Amino acid sequence: MIHSLQFRLIVAFALVIIVTIGSVFFFTYQSTRSEIRQFGERMELMQARRVEVELSSYYYRRGNWEGIQPFIAQWGNLYGRRIILTDHNGVVVADSEEELLGKPYEADMPGIPMSSPWEKGAIGVLYLGPGLSPEVDIVSLHIVYGAIGRFFIWGGLLAVAIALLITFVLSRRILAPVKALTQAARRLGKGDFSQRVHIRDKGEVGELAQSFNSMAGDLERAEQLRRNMVADAAHELRTPLSNIRGYLEAIRDGVVKPDVATISSLYEEVTLLSRLIDDLQELSLADAGELNLICQKEDISKLIDEAVAALQPQAATKDLVLAVDLPEKLPLVNIDSHRIKQVLRNLLDNAVAHTAKGGTIAVTARQEGNCVEVTVSDTGEGIPAEDLPNIFERFYRVDKSRTRATGGSGLGLTIAKRLVEAHGGRIEVQSELGKGSRFAFTLPVSA
Ligand code: ADP
Repeated sequence: MIHSLQFRLIVAFALVIIVTIGSVFFFTYQSTRSEIRQFGERMELMQARRVEVELSSYYYRRGNWEGIQPFIAQWGNLYGRRIILTDHNGVVVADSEEELLGKPYEADMPGIPMSSPWEKGAIGVLYLGPGLSPEVDIVSLHIVYGAIGRFFIWGGLLAVAIALLITFVLSRRILAPVKALTQAARRLGKGDFSQRVHIRDKGEVGELAQSFNSMAGDLERAEQLRRNMVADAAHELRTPLSNIRGYLEAIRDGVVKPDVATISSLYEEVTLLSRLIDDLQELSLADAGELNLICQKEDISKLIDEAVAALQPQAATKDLVLAVDLPEKLPLVNIDSHRIKQVLRNLLDNAVAHTAKGGTIAVTARQEGNCVEVTVSDTGEGIPAEDLPNIFERFYRVDKSRTRATGGSGLGLTIAKRLVEAHGGRIEVQSELGKGSRFAFTLPVSA
């Protein structure tokens, strides 16, 4: 409960509202209070100036302070402040409370600083007690703010309650897709890769849902791939193994003699088996994106010449013509030469295997933008149109009855495709049944 996002949202909203209302109340109170203080001080000063001017004009009309007491008493009443006036000897000539009349002034009220005729007590000193007004105002301010404070508290409580309600409803709506995602992720984790979430949200949660769905899709495909791979591999390994077992049983039972011919057959089966395992390993590395390519600038013409030369003896036994057509100048390509040789060997081996006596195998290369395109064409048996889309699939063979001895493992083109793609290139095939096939792949020109 405490850790739920909904609870945290509700607490956060409530805190925001309380803090906002509290600080608005506090700052309003503080600023009003200091405004009132300043206003009071300005009022006191104005009163002092007014009394001062009235008194000095009185003194100059009369030449002394006689008869001033009633005026002072009146002003004292009017302003609600004590007013005391002394003559130049410091004897009190007027006191709004009449208490100090005729006595020397010894109270602790400070004399107010006065302008010219009053300077240095020449005609006397005026003392003004503190005004009541600002204090009175502040007391009434307290009363008003007490009321306002209660208003703020109730208003705040109401706002918090409404906010909680809104947060509760909104957070349920916001969090519903998150809950759906959590459940789907949990089921996915338990191995149900068909899990998808249906969230039409266009915001971040929607994006998360989309990412989740595409991740689930990838996982489902990867899982399917893994299952197929294991099944296919088991199927492919079974045949050579049962051949080997057959030979061994026959030898054990004395049906076949363990002579050189038998051992050669056994050796051949084992060689095929280990090649199949190497191919499988290569493919699984490619599928996992873990092919370690050691790329550097290479002359593709040289690589093609070497691959073709290596094939010459095989081609000669079938009277095949090997034609290489390369332009004078080809840019260097950025490749792992070992892997690309493997691709070339694979395509050339296939061409030789599927071309009848006297046919032609042609290899060309040309620059195409920032790629070099290499083609291997033959005048062989060709590939049926319905098989063309599948020949790069692993273990796919056009002639299903061909065994490993006559055909390959069915992995050659799959590996070639993975290798070319790992270099950032692509591989394509065109073929016409009975006329021949043309394989083309691209490689990136070195920068
Ligand atoms: P394999 O090891 O069987 O040759 P590949 O993956 O290299 O496996 O090739 C897959 C299938 O594509 C082959 O079994 C063959 O039927 C067909 N194929 C490949 N290259 C050619 C070609 N040049 N001419 C005709 N068929 C071909």
